[in-house]
Amino acid sequence: MPAPRVSFVSLGCPKALVDSERIITRLRSEGYEIARKHDGADLVVVNTCGFLDSARNESLGAIGAALSENGKVIVTGCLGAEPEVIREKHPNVLAITGPQAYESVMAAVHEAAPPAHDPYLDLIPPQGVRLTPRHYAYLKISEGCNNRCSFCIIPQLRGDLVSRPLGDVLREAERLVMAGVKEILVISQDTSAYGVDLKYRADLWQEREVRTKFLDLTRELGEMGVWVRLHYVYPYPHVDEVIPLMAEGKILPYLDIPFQHASSTVLKTMRRPAHQEKTLDRIRRWREICPDLAVRSTFIVGFPGETEEDFETLLSWLDEARIDRAGCFKYEPVKGARANDLGLDPVPDEVKTLRWNRFMARQQKISAAQLKKKIGKRLPVIIDEAEGRVARGRTRYDAPEIDGTVRIHANRPLRTGDIVTVKIEGSDAYDLSGLAV
Ligand code: SF4
Repeated sequence: MPAPRVSFVSLGCPKALVDSERIITRLRSEGYEIARKHDGADLVVVNTCGFLDSARNESLGAIGAALSENGKVIVTGCLGAEPEVIREKHPNVLAITGPQAYESVMAAVHEAAPPAHDPYLDLIPPQGVRLTPRHYAYLKISEGCNNRCSFCIIPQLRGDLVSRPLGDVLREAERLVMAGVKEILVISQDTSAYGVDLKYRADLWQEREVRTKFLDLTRELGEMGVWVRLHYVYPYPHVDEVIPLMAEGKILPYLDIPFQHASSTVLKTMRRPAHQEKTLDRIRRWREICPDLAVRSTFIVGFPGETEEDFETLLSWLDEARIDRAGCFKYEPVKGARANDLGLDPVPDEVKTLRWNRFMARQQKISAAQLKKKIGKRLPVIIDEAEGRVARGRTRYDAPEIDGTVRIHANRPLRTGDIVTVKIEGSDAYDLSGLAV
């Protein structure tokens, strides 16, 4: 009997991508084949994103396309937490499950397309199936979040923080390294809160007891001989402790901290974690310890109640903080978020757009100046794509997909996944270029 074929659509953030990888790993381990097209597959699984209205629409569109091209559709992921929204538009989907509901997705798949009689359990490499290129991989260390930011519905969708035990996380990292991964990107909703739900319980790793804690995890990952990049780190006081590991070269000098704003009034109404920390002083001290630290962040402009003064505070904060990379979003009211009930004045759309443009112009200048300082330096660069003697890669200061790249030319053929030294020759607002030496 031929193996049933499942077509898979993965939408949303890197965290959703990790969920997709887990589901695909399970499917492959049970003998299912992954089809490239909906047409001709036995069924389609759509892993949705439900965060912003635009993402919800994209998810509903993908479900509609799968229904018309195939007809048998199982929906999972964040939008799956709101089955009524999906059923209203697409009453014919076979099953709907929420985020991280791996068992229910598999149960729905079994019902719609039973597994082949004799699954080859060893079809699948021990490190699992990854949707990201072979040389980098996301490592998810926890699910959910204990914070209650007023604009966010993630805790409603994904629940409170549940950390994976340290031994599990490190074993997965080790398998990834053995499979050839050169860069590990640590992700979760709140990376620096890792282990708090487990009361930092000790776990066994290489016959030693190690605490399930942010610093201990980072230290152990730093011993694996690959690039380790930290995402979604809130600036709780204990984050200071990992900066020396960056200065020693154990982990990458890179911190992705979603600051979202700088005005204390806005941060308070956003109910942001660690908003009371004096972030400018912290960043200054971190750079004293690790001078080449790159800070990436995201911001929201046009949050309800944001005044011109609040926005000016954000712009001058940017000037002082010299954030290397910043993403900026215009506030969109998310259905079910508490920010909608705070009774704050919404910011008109045209003001939001003006502020967004002003933010981007200011940040572009800062980022261009930060990049210009790199001209003439020799920097290690990991190659993401190569074609003969030209390639595109990233420095230690840039994460895949969200930050800048380096255009590389060389006197020899280059290969994806290699880490080469590049003499930086040029820069613009976002990217670098140079010669592999
Ligand atoms: S920290 Fe805030 S924005 Fe991030 S997932 Fe938790 S509640 Fe949402």
